Amino acid sequence: MPYDSNNIFAKILRGEIPCDKVYENSYVLAFKDIMPKAPVHVLVIPKSSYISFDDFSTHATNEEIGEFFRAVGEIARDLKVEQDGYRLIANHHHFAGQEVDHFHVHILGGKPLGPMLIS
Ligand code: AMP
Repeated sequence: MPYDSNNIFAKILRGEIPCDKVYENSYVLAFKDIMPKAPVHVLVIPKSSYISFDDFSTHATNEEIGEFFRAVGEIARDLKVEQDGYRLIANHHHFAGQEVDHFHVHILGGKPLGPMLIS
């Protein structure tokens, strides 16, 4: 499946639709999730075009991967969730319920998050 440059996060990256930005550097953009599942719910996306974690972990450079995850930690500290704790989620493909086909990590926190999986 090729990367679809019309996905919503690609449009956000191109500035075609707005986002509630919390962080940006040359590698990543982070913004608040439009339907938050917790008091803190931020999405971190690479600026390069990767469909999901599988694509990112296969094709991104070591520099991109390092910069991405370094930024995720920095953003979590900026959000002040590192003391109480937070959860990272990256949904890959159908079984995980991935809705937007541009790789992203959810940062969730701000309250006790309960069990990891709800079935
Ligand atoms: P996933 O299921 O992992 O693909 O998550 C996609 C997330 O993107 C969902 O939590 C949506 O609420 C969120 N989302 C969709 N459109 C937007 C948008 N325009 N701005 C911010 N978050 C969005």
